[in-house]
Amino acid sequence: MLFTPGPTAVPPEVREAMAEPQPNSAVQSGFADRYHRLCGNLQTVYDTDHDVIVPGGEGILGLEAAIASLVAPGDRVLCISNGLYGDGFANFVDDYDGEPELVAAPYDEGYDLDAIEAALAEAEESDDPFTAATLVHCETPTGTLNDLGPVLDLLDAYDVLSVVDAVSSLGGTPVPTDRIDICLGASQKVFSAPPGLTTVAVSDRAWDGMEAREPSSLYTNLLPWRDVSEGFPYTHLDANVAALDVAVERLVDEGREAVYKRHQRAAERCRERGAELGLDLYPDEARSSPTVTAFHIPAEAKRIQQRVEEDHDIVLATSLGDLADDILRVGHMGYNADVEKVDRVMDAVEAVVE
Ligand SMILES: *Cc1c(COP(=O)(O)O)cnc(C)c1O
Repeated sequence: MLFTPGPTAVPPEVREAMAEPQPNSAVQSGFADRYHRLCGNLQTVYDTDHDVIVPGGEGILGLEAAIASLVAPGDRVLCISNGLYGDGFANFVDDYDGEPELVAAPYDEGYDLDAIEAALAEAEESDDPFTAATLVHCETPTGTLNDLGPVLDLLDAYDVLSVVDAVSSLGGTPVPTDRIDICLGASQKVFSAPPGLTTVAVSDRAWDGMEAREPSSLYTNLLPWRDVSEGFPYTHLDANVAALDVAVERLVDEGREAVYKRHQRAAERCRERGAELGLDLYPDEARSSPTVTAFHIPAEAKRIQQRVEEDHDIVLATSLGDLADDILRVGHMGYNADVEKVDRVMDAVEAVVE
């Protein structure tokens, strides 16, 4: 059992879709029809009227492309962070010769609203405003779900574009996409398709920002995806598109609210079982994402993860960076957001912990 917070286990229908013969994306209209149906279904999952595009490339492509497409050399970007992915946005801004300003909070706390407002006010007063701000909805390495509303209110008040990494929350819990200028997802998290595709919801304001910036790259430029009626910027990943199309259709058929509830129940069960074993959550319960549970088990996480794999053939994750050996992560997202599966996983954790 693959039970990591992405890539997740892939259901049989999705794997079978990948094995079918595919139309040539540059020559046959059947491919474009499938692509447009996928984008329409993604608007339903995102719960948005914004355009949704699906470039070929792993989730990281979306993060990098958002910055490459919006940020011109010298542009200031407010990078709001309480985790590794939030910090990472500042590196992308640096790579594209923008000027990142990192406003960081501890990894187990919420965003620092006072510091964010102070940075926005300072930028306005000094007449050197931010082009965009970056945020992360679910910080997967620590299982922390951020409350985006109050930050989006501030960004609206100061007229700053928002770029949100919702890769590991999208589909499993509500994301306020209509309030976000660029909202990023990826195929291998809640969608439970193989890694390889980035999903991007783009507001009209963000498209206008890109038109004005005139991005110079090709692979990391989102603009050619705005209108693909004359063709895709490069040969699309046809088998991945077929798989994601089937995966997203499954979610749409189940219904948004039903999928959210399934995630909530799986998360609750995981946390109840953890509490029975005396395991602490890393962020507190109110901040924990319905898609992933991070247990804080200092210096023991790797040993437990290895024993669960060796003895029970269940693959869990530890964390990244400084917390690698202190956090054990159970990814109950997408196909794995299932109370019975969570019970099997936690039975194995129980056998190893005791
Ligand atoms: C998985 C994930 C990504 C995509 O990057 P990976 O290389 O798959 O780790 C981006 N952002 C977040 C928050 C993720 O969880």
